[in-house]
Amino acid sequence: MLTGRGWSPAAAAPAGGVDRDPRTPHRRSRTLNVIVIGGGQAGLAAGYYLRRAGLEFTILDAQLEPGGAWRHGWDSLRLFSPARHSSLPGRPMPRFPVEGYPTADHVVDYLAAYEKRYELPVERGVRVRSVLRTAEGFDVDGRHADAVISATGTWWRPFVPAVAWRLPGRQLHTVDYRNPAQFTGQRVVVVGGGNSGAQIAADLAGHVDLTWVTQRPPRYLPDEIDGKALFDIATHNPGGVAALGDIVAVPPVRGARDRGLLTAHPMDPGVLRSADTVIWATGFRASLSHLAGLGLRTPDGRVPTAGTRAVGEPRLHLLGYGNWTGPASATLIGVGPTTKAAVAHLARELGATVRR
Ligand SMILES: Cc1cc2nc3c(=O)[nH]c(=O)nc-3n(C[C@H](O)[C@H](O)[C@H](O)COP(=O)(O)OP(=O)(O)OC[C@H]3O[C@@H](n4cnc5c(N)ncnc54)[C@H](O)[C@@H]3O)c2cc1C
Repeated sequence: MLTGRGWSPAAAAPAGGVDRDPRTPHRRSRTLNVIVIGGGQAGLAAGYYLRRAGLEFTILDAQLEPGGAWRHGWDSLRLFSPARHSSLPGRPMPRFPVEGYPTADHVVDYLAAYEKRYELPVERGVRVRSVLRTAEGFDVDGRHADAVISATGTWWRPFVPAVAWRLPGRQLHTVDYRNPAQFTGQRVVVVGGGNSGAQIAADLAGHVDLTWVTQRPPRYLPDEIDGKALFDIATHNPGGVAALGDIVAVPPVRGARDRGLLTAHPMDPGVLRSADTVIWATGFRASLSHLAGLGLRTPDGRVPTAGTRAVGEPRLHLLGYGNWTGPASATLIGVGPTTKAAVAHLARELGATVRR
């Protein structure tokens, strides 16, 4: 939720993390080949390829349970890609029985089973605060490794435009939304013409006094488009899925649209001011504060990359943050290929090879 001064990190920070006092050094631990930071889908895909490469590694994850960001979506969230096009390397996502588009719970179950199946060494409740260079490699809050893979996602750094600070009503982001019962009797404005905005607007339609605000008229992908086509578009479009600006008509969205309940309006300051609650479905930024000590970040908080490799730090790779870390790499199906290339690069750097 937004506070008077800005976004409250406590609202979005990965739950359950154990904050270690950075002044208390760990007993010097054995140096691993690779430390992976983040145990969501990108971190697990990294684990799959690191194991195949025969590298010694661990995966550190701030949450106490598997599933990454998928644990935190709203109740009715549906994937915009069917199960058969939402798989990580090695293990297909089980079919989702109802209407094709899986729920977030289905993804959480899949990721938990994936982790178990490949016996991935995920250490839970460990939130990494700082990555530093050492003479031999990296110090990750007192643990040591020759190389680091950062796979911490974006959910933990929601983006809200500055105009929100000046509005009188309650200002929320996608990450705060659960279901319509939170807003009974309220005038609610949903801002954003992407998949999140459309799904939340569809969820609220008919339950609250809703206005859906988008920068341009919403563009729906053809109803019959499948996730493979979406992935292909994302892979060959420099801006990725988000940049397409197109909405996948998952069943709840299609239903609300076809009943005439999903009418989008252009941005209007008066409408924003009159709302009891504004829900900003305006995207995310990469969650990279743990890399600040490396001095690689640009003023906007990013780390420049060539593919997944950090420019100026050949043994640091960034996975899953968006198209800038690989085509469609922020999707379930898209993270595999970029991860495979990243681990192959690291394996060469560290003198191992990736098995086919
Ligand atoms: C609303 C929505 C709908 C989407 N729908 C689809 C879809 O239909 N199909 C699709 O393929 N993709 C979809 N995506 C995109 C994508 O699959 C997700 O963004 C995905 O969760 C990204 O996975 P990740 O592993 O990179 O990050 P995350 O899932 O966020 O995992 C990162 C992990 O790192 C941990 N972490 C963070 N910081 C630290 C730290 N400092 N130290 C240790 N651990 C840390 C977190 O606790 C978390 O467990 C959707 C995204 C959103 C937001």
